[in-house]
Amino acid sequence: MSHSTPAATPGATTMRATALGRLAELLDRSPDPAGDGHARALETELADRFEAAHAVVLSSGTAALHVALGASGIGDGDEVLVPGASVVMTLVAIRLTGAMPVLVDSACGDLDFDDLAAKTTVRTKAVLPVHLAGRCADLARLTAYCADRGLRLIEDACQAQGTQYDGRWAGTFGDAGCFSTKDGKLLWSGEGGYLLTDDAGLAARARSFAAHGFLPAPDQPAGSRLGHNYRMPEPVAIIARGNLARFDELLALRRRQTRHLLDQLTDAPGLTVIPSDGRHAWNGYAPLLRVELDRPREFCARLAERGVPNSAGTYGLTTADRLPSLKDLALSACPAARADLDTTLAVVVHEADTDARLDEMARIITEEARQWR
Ligand SMILES: *Cc1c(COP(=O)(O)O)cnc(C)c1O
Repeated sequence: MSHSTPAATPGATTMRATALGRLAELLDRSPDPAGDGHARALETELADRFEAAHAVVLSSGTAALHVALGASGIGDGDEVLVPGASVVMTLVAIRLTGAMPVLVDSACGDLDFDDLAAKTTVRTKAVLPVHLAGRCADLARLTAYCADRGLRLIEDACQAQGTQYDGRWAGTFGDAGCFSTKDGKLLWSGEGGYLLTDDAGLAARARSFAAHGFLPAPDQPAGSRLGHNYRMPEPVAIIARGNLARFDELLALRRRQTRHLLDQLTDAPGLTVIPSDGRHAWNGYAPLLRVELDRPREFCARLAERGVPNSAGTYGLTTADRLPSLKDLALSACPAARADLDTTLAVVVHEADTDARLDEMARIITEEARQWR
């Protein structure tokens, strides 16, 4: 990456200079065990930027999911409804609380609401939609569904930074929205995560849960509950602050890269763009194509081999019931979600991908599609 021309935005230079200055100051006063000034400042900046009452910064997106569930009182014996098309981290976070994930079928980003209703039981405590590739389920309908039944709504918005749905930021519809700042996500800082919430009590419980239970929360004196160490380290907060300050640029760049790649693929047989509906102002997280070729997963794997990273081919993205690591849970099959994921090519795009690199990926995809038998 350092040897190619980075597709850097003008703001990248400012970001680097500011971050280096802050890192130098941090090193000058190290060790400073109580120092959390950048993490606290990032919380204020995130809450402002994404129009939530509170942001809580954490060590990863998985931590954000665990913390959001824990701070919502989800635990042993509870059931959490989650789409079949989700990622292993979502499932792990549910299991870490002691709750059981229950898979709901999903297609083209939306949940199957009949299946959702069929699987809602007296043990159901929460619904956890996963906005894969920045596309959301019908959040107005889901919010109403949860409100009517007293269910918590926690969004896995790790891939949806910058998406707006019905004019509102993804991750601000439910009780909490969970985000990752791992490299490759839109707002990156190496590792890291955060949650957004309008609930002051949830935010306080989340901060305590992420700091060994040491912090007081309403009806929860300091030290009365066990917690984890899920705090965001200061160097990570410095990088995240720098990237948040140029988030508009990062969002515009990703949208442009995705558009650019898709525009080069009009001659690729058997591949059609999966459009987003009019309710989304989509973040362009990944170029999304429907693969109408034989053995679509093998096709995606072949592209990965040829240097076109993608969700199915590189990361083996599949429905949760098919993950070997979760086989003991005997999760129910999700045929629509399976058919959807099996035929989706989601190309992984990174900030450093130049137009030349995107053109090269498009060339390989077109060539492989033309000769695929
Ligand atoms: C990246 C991601 C996560 C986990 O984030 P980490 O920071 O890697 O723990 C969870 N859910 C989704 C949908 C993600 O894309």
